[in-house]
Amino acid sequence: MNATTRRRRPRSRIHLARIDAANAALAGFAQGTTIEVVGGRVFVLWSSHRRGNLRKQWMTRGQDFYPVWDRKWGHGGTATTALAQLVRWIQGRPVLPMRSWRHWMSETVLLGRDRGPQILSALSDAGYPESSPCVLCGRDVAASSFDWWSLNGVSGPCCRYIDDAGCRQQVRADLKTVGTNSFMESP
Ligand SMILES: [Zn+2]
Repeated sequence: MNATTRRRRPRSRIHLARIDAANAALAGFAQGTTIEVVGGRVFVLWSSHRRGNLRKQWMTRGQDFYPVWDRKWGHGGTATTALAQLVRWIQGRPVLPMRSWRHWMSETVLLGRDRGPQILSALSDAGYPESSPCVLCGRDVAASSFDWWSLNGVSGPCCRYIDDAGCRQQVRADLKTVGTNSFMESP
């Protein structure tokens, strides 16, 4: 591993003002789940019939989409991806753009059922980003198609592998992404 690939994950900068909006969005698709921040660390709280009240620190595995306790949370893959974006937004880390939320609230996904409009306005009113800079080259990929990059502590949206205009035509050797189906409509 050389110096350029061993980039450290930047220190988390918690955006306290975003917590209320994130919780308002959560209430729309995962009722009873809330996010809280204590001492710079993010916790997710919910209650389950079998296990009672739970409070888990945010820790991810794999591609930064899924917390290590996602099966205990039990809301499914799209909801878990959405929760991950809320946590990352609070942490000031790269997130999927509003376009992904509109897709999740659309009739094909219906993540928030009839509460989609409230979820979308809670996020956009609080400044959740419309644009989505590629974490590798900085190009805004929100208007076209994109993938998710996760390697050596760098994670977030990135140019799509098959996009001729994208930077990833030059970085095939480092290819390591997840599929796009969970957060983006088909191109
Ligand atoms: Zn790029």
